[in-house]
Amino acid sequence: MKTPRFLVVEPGSVDEAIAVVEAARERGVCLHPWSSGSGVLGAALPPGECAVVSTSRLRGAEVLAGGQIVHSMAGTRIHEVLAAAEEKGLTVPLLPQSLELASAAGVVSTLASGMIQPGAGNVEDVVQYVDIVLSGDGLVRLGSDVNPRGRVGPSLLDAVLGSEGGAGLIVGVGFRARARPRSEARIACRTRSLSDALRIARRLSQWNTPHVMRVIDEDEASLMFSEEGPLLVASYYAAVKGIAEALGDTLKAECESAGGEVLGEEVYERVFAERWRYAERLESLYKAGLWADTIDIAAGWDLLEDAWRRVKSRLSKVKGVVAVMAHSGHFYPGGAAVYFIVVGEARPSVFARAWREALDEAASLGASVTHHHGIGRAKLPWALRELGEARLRVLCRVLDALDPYRVFRGSPLRRVCMRLTAR
Ligand SMILES: Cc1cc2nc3c(=O)[nH]c(=O)nc-3n(C[C@H](O)[C@H](O)[C@H](O)COP(=O)(O)OP(=O)(O)OC[C@H]3O[C@@H](n4cnc5c(N)ncnc54)[C@H](O)[C@@H]3O)c2cc1C
Repeated sequence: MKTPRFLVVEPGSVDEAIAVVEAARERGVCLHPWSSGSGVLGAALPPGECAVVSTSRLRGAEVLAGGQIVHSMAGTRIHEVLAAAEEKGLTVPLLPQSLELASAAGVVSTLASGMIQPGAGNVEDVVQYVDIVLSGDGLVRLGSDVNPRGRVGPSLLDAVLGSEGGAGLIVGVGFRARARPRSEARIACRTRSLSDALRIARRLSQWNTPHVMRVIDEDEASLMFSEEGPLLVASYYAAVKGIAEALGDTLKAECESAGGEVLGEEVYERVFAERWRYAERLESLYKAGLWADTIDIAAGWDLLEDAWRRVKSRLSKVKGVVAVMAHSGHFYPGGAAVYFIVVGEARPSVFARAWREALDEAASLGASVTHHHGIGRAKLPWALRELGEARLRVLCRVLDALDPYRVFRGSPLRRVCMRLTAR
């Protein structure tokens, strides 16, 4: 197989980034942004006709005067953003499993999320502004560093969250910093069934929502944590002592009144400590000739459990798949995401089939095919169907307005837009 060759440009400052975009505009060159390549859906892979513009030299984060914002250069890894906040006694509640891999620009571009959810951990909850270089307009701050709500009129910032490199070159991100919580209550509950766990989670997602919550099915509970499941684990944070503890006690009572069993805090700790052991886990699977992949979907409460069971059942029938487990870690008043972990023989065809089966099933039920991993190449056909033609046309027009010279035409979605407008 021929190794693809790309021109890679690495601006070392915002001024150089502006000059690179301007030079590309003048020459009609396509640029595709790349930050750290940890995206899991192939969005960062450049098409052959594009040069890659990498943010690897745009690093560094600092808390701005006033202490509300951590300003981060685009290529700064999330753990570096958190370290800059921590140095000033602050925090940014964005905790993706990939915090040592993912960059500031990457989390914005993929609509990422972390484990401090439903409390705050989606990227839209923690980003105050994005500094982006747009073709024709140069450097523009989307969002606001003046208005704490982050918008003056319609939100331009929202148009670049999830844009996967198709709008412009992000050079900086302003993350919202907060004081660290003073107290936390951690709860682990074993429920009688997945339905019971989801019922409690649904009620909690309306009011007095925990800051971290996870419903784990019995397969994941047993394979990953050696626990009988299903499990519901949650924690509350509070600014003053007493509130988190009181809410935690209420949740324990809720668990028991649903016939569940309240477990020790060490179960909660084991569940979240496991998140950071993924490299080790993958290594041992690989030695056994196996691999693992993850698929995120989302659905309203009316469909959620059905989607969970049916997608899982369809995945487990794929030849070469040896285990399927799932959890839900992202909740909204109207529904939640489900995250499937698929273990199978380490062959690309097994996982390609698994992806097809899972997304076909989710789409046929009316669930959404994406939550926090974006669209990329892997989910594009299903995402396009979910968007529908009218919405896609509007989205393409918005991206065209941000990038009128189509310098950033290499993203998977933008390539579809180019074909659509050429019709
Ligand atoms: C082990 C593991 C665990 C993970 N856990 C999580 C998790 O908990 N939560 C989660 O949300 N994701 C998770 N991910 C996925 C991944 O880390 C995120 O999607 C992340 O946001 C990608 O960031 P990146 O810097 O690696 O971006 P890249 O992969 O480099 O790029 C992703 C997209 O962003 C665009 N882009 C990159 N830089 C710029 C820029 N400067 N301007 C404009 N566009 C740009 C690219 O073109 C591409 O479309 C995980 C991945 C791995 C491998």
